Order: sequence, then C-alpha cells, then structure tokens
Amino acid sequence: MKKYDYIISGSGASGLMLVYHMILDPFFDQKQILLIDKVLKNQNDRTWCFWEKGSGIWDEIVHKKWDSIYFGSDNFSKKIVISPYYYKLIRSKDFYDFILKVLQEKSNITIIQEKIISIVDQGDIVSIKTDAHAYLGNKVFNSVVLSLAYKNQSRYPVLNQHFLGWFVKTKEPSFDTKMATFMDFTVAQKENTRFMYVLPISETEALFEYTLFSKDLLEEQEYEDEIKKYLQNKGITRYKISEKEKGCIPMTCYNFNKYNSKNVLHIGTAGGWTKPSTGYTFSNSLKKVQQLIPFLKQAKDFSKFDQKTRFWYYDLLFIDVLYRDNHIGASLFSSLFKKNKSSKILKFLDEKTTLFEDLKITTSLPAGKFLKALSQRFFKI
Ligand SMILES: Cc1cc2nc3c(=O)[nH]c(=O)nc-3n(C[C@H](O)[C@H](O)[C@H](O)COP(=O)(O)OP(=O)(O)OC[C@H]3O[C@@H](n4cnc5c(N)ncnc54)[C@H](O)[C@@H]3O)c2cc1C
Repeated sequence: MKKYDYIISGSGASGLMLVYHMILDPFFDQKQILLIDKVLKNQNDRTWCFWEKGSGIWDEIVHKKWDSIYFGSDNFSKKIVISPYYYKLIRSKDFYDFILKVLQEKSNITIIQEKIISIVDQGDIVSIKTDAHAYLGNKVFNSVVLSLAYKNQSRYPVLNQHFLGWFVKTKEPSFDTKMATFMDFTVAQKENTRFMYVLPISETEALFEYTLFSKDLLEEQEYEDEIKKYLQNKGITRYKISEKEKGCIPMTCYNFNKYNSKNVLHIGTAGGWTKPSTGYTFSNSLKKVQQLIPFLKQAKDFSKFDQKTRFWYYDLLFIDVLYRDNHIGASLFSSLFKKNKSSKILKFLDEKTTLFEDLKITTSLPAGKFLKALSQRFFKI
C-alpha cells in the first residue's frame, strides 16, 4: 500500500481549497499529497456565490459581482447597496480548472479517480479503501459524506435548503445586471419558507433558482412550474433555458465534528462547515482552510480543530424555530432586513460581529418564538 503524508478525500470545493492553500505554502513542498475523487472535476456542476469586502483570492475566476442586492417580501422590499461588500459569483468549472491547472505543475501531488468506500483511523496511520485500491495516510481530510446518521437523529433538526435553477437566455435585454435578488419571498409560501433567488449575469442571461428551507423535497416539476410562473409575472415569456442546476444542502447544527479523530478531519459540508442558518459553505470553507494551515504545521490532534462559538447557538435556535414553524421564514427574514443595515447582517452571518452588534440583530427577531426555542433547548443540548 502506498503511503502519503496527506490524503484528501473528495476534490470538490473544500478539498481543492485545502490543497490550493497547501501548495501556496512552502511547508508542504516536500509532502506527498493524494487527492481522491470518484469523478473527474471538469463539469460546471454548481454556481457558488458568497459576499466579501473588496478584493479576494478568487477574483481571477469571479464570473460576475454585484454591489447591490434585492430583498423582497409582501411587507418589506428593498434594493440594498451592500458596500463595503460585493456579492460574487464563481462557476464551479472555472474554480476546478483554476486549481487543477496549478496542481498539474506540482510533482508532490497525485490525483486519482476512485470511489472511497471507507476511512479508518488506526491511531498512528489512516487506511482508506476505495473501489479499486487501498491507501495509507498520516493525516486524512474527508469531504465525502460517508454517513447519513445526521438524517436519522432528532436532537438537531435538519432543514434542507433545496432548489432547482434555470439559466434563462432572452433575445431582448430583460435583466437588471446591477443587482442580485438575494431572496424574493413574494412567491406563494405554501406553509414553508420559499423564495426566488435571481442572479443576472447579463441583460439577456440570468439564473433563476426556486429555493426552499424546509424538511421535504419537492417533485422536480413543482420547482420548474414556480420558475415559469415567476418569469411570467415578470413579463418574461420568450426565453431559452441554457442550463439547469439543482441542489440540496443540509441546514443543521448536528455535530459533524464528532467524527473527527486524531488523524482524520472532516471538511466541507461533511465536516459541518455549512452555515446552518443559510446553507452558505463556500466562504466558510475558505475561512476554515485558512485556520487549518497553521494548525497543520503543528501536527496537532485533529479532534481539537473545530470549536463551538456563540454563533453556533444562534444558528441552533434559528433552525429550531424555522423547523417547528416553517411558514414564518418570510417574516423572520423581512424583520431582519427591515430593522438592520444589510452590511451588518452580512457581517453577522460571517460571524464577525461583536456581542453588542449580535444583540441588536437578534433582538430584531420576534422574541417569543426564540425564547420558547431556548427554553426547550435548555434540556436538550
Ligand atoms: C448546486 C449547488 C449550488 C450551491 N451554491 C452555493 C453557493 O452559492 N454558496 C455557498 O456558499 N454554497 C453553495 N452550495 C453549498 C456548498 O458550497 C457546496 O455544496 C460545496 O460544493 C460544498 O463543498 P464540499 O467540499 O463540502 O463538497 P463537494 O464540493 O460536493 O465535494 C465533495 C466531493 O466528493 C466527491 N465524492 C462524493 N462521494 C465520493 C466517494 N464515495 N468517493 C470519492 N469521491 C466522492 C464528489 O465528487 C465531490 O467532488 C451549493 C451547493 C450546490 C449543490
């Protein structure tokens, strides 16, 4: 069995971000690194958006960015300038190509296409079995969701952020390229939290994603019917669908870290790096990777890497409330956007606010629901 210093299981967003940061640091120049993914990452399989202040390390591959977003609902709608932030869009294919090209020039990196079956930390070494071979690694980072145990427990409710999107092309200029529609709750809520998310790439091309934060997924047809209806309401009747994308992101405070061991660290969605209250994972993964690099240099026990912060508790209550009263999402988000500066909301969601700022934001939400969730949680954590 071939032995590596590091093995990265899954070369999607978090796996590639990690290896990219490793090769930027001379500390890893002599380390043998293996990347395993069941597929060749050459498809545009998702569209990632995130916000950040000013410029950032992915700017070379940012496909589109906006300095304004639109929030819509029946009782509060607003076009909001999000300065000093930008809302940025990356096509996953550009991200994969960008990193894989740099990796090709590195002789210490090996990339293989095999399906991972199991990962076992034996205490001083980790063994990985794939459908073709077995490998040994001193340290392993796993972004493959190998256990569905998080779905079969009741301590931490699991909402899904599920969506289906159409890339729509029109002949005539039809879209306002200056702002991205962050959440438009004016769509029928049907006892859930449902909204449209719109990313105008150009005046004649936009991505429309019908999105829910709810327990159960819909039949594909329902997402598509809702996009059709939304387009019609906007007076857009002549268009072509150039691409489709769909996804389902778990929104939960389930403790994914408990699977971390001395030598195996779960990363990305599999490591609980998805922000439970929003489903955003991309920028959170960057933040985690940037913390992980110095941590790695001290070859520390991986089970000590992830620490709970107060934001985890806010997310916990938010998910508890939304899981129990799934129909109130529109009014919760409306209160949030109505009573707070959007730049403060983004800072809060980035987990960078001070306690004082947290207080201002959290008290803009209906206290009764959250106090009830808090009292029920008190006996459950
Ligand atoms: C369509 C879509 C759009 C999204 N948009 C956003 C967004 O705008 N902003 C945001 O912050 N987040 C977004 N997310 C959430 C999140 O950022 C992505 O899911 C992101 O790709 C998660 O990174 P990851 O490394 O955890 O998982 P992935 O990127 O999914 O990487 C996991 C890798 O593991 C491989 N794999 C799976 N099983 C095996 C196996 N058995 N053996 C070997 N390899 C395996 C897969 O091929 C994949 O390459 C989106 C998700 C989806 C699905």
